[in-house]
Amino acid sequence: MLTKKQWEHCLEEMDRMFPDAHCELVHDNPFELTIATLLSAQCTDVLVNKVTKDLFKKYKKPEDYLAVSLEELQQDIRSIGLYRNKAKNIQLLCEKVINEFNGEIPQTREQLVTLPGVGRKTANVVLSVAFDIPALAVDTHVERVSKRLGLCRLKDTVLEVEETIMKKTPKEKWSKTHHQLIFFGRYHCKAQNPQCGTCPLLDDCREGQKRLKKGLVKL
Ligand code: SF4
Repeated sequence: MLTKKQWEHCLEEMDRMFPDAHCELVHDNPFELTIATLLSAQCTDVLVNKVTKDLFKKYKKPEDYLAVSLEELQQDIRSIGLYRNKAKNIQLLCEKVINEFNGEIPQTREQLVTLPGVGRKTANVVLSVAFDIPALAVDTHVERVSKRLGLCRLKDTVLEVEETIMKKTPKEKWSKTHHQLIFFGRYHCKAQNPQCGTCPLLDDCREGQKRLKKGLVKL
């Protein structure tokens, strides 16, 4: 497992590689971010942004999503995976936001996860990106990179990964670390083709060292 010192070194290197890592879902307010994050489950941010470009012009507030039929909303997001279920959740979410939260996206994790289609990951993204509240959302990139590095155990659940990263990272760095891990996983330590040969974390990385020993890394 990575020592505290090794993890600090990883954070410094990711800082150098991705100083401007940020949320890539285009949005103008917490409501739009919540909708975009809900749509992004099992789907790329690029595709979500393509769809929300028109979607957010047509639907500006929760009432707008309820003013159309479910079928119409489904058609408007049909290029996104699981669009039927997501459209249903969006309408239920809007109903709840209007009825229970005065038309505004709530600002606590406990309240956010009561919204249909919003799990812990989405709630953490909204807390950290929209409201600047320290939180760390574990998506596929964050989980893969933490496990490859040896920061977490391979058998750890998503929640255990989140807890470990939070425990080992200063609170004021949680949000930034979340985005840097995503960028690092999306553009460098990719699922299919990790760039171990040029990786500044190779010396400390459990998976990288394994690949090196197997002759899979070209230096
Ligand atoms: S050494 Fe390879 S597996 Fe490890 S973090 Fe770098 S790119 Fe990923």
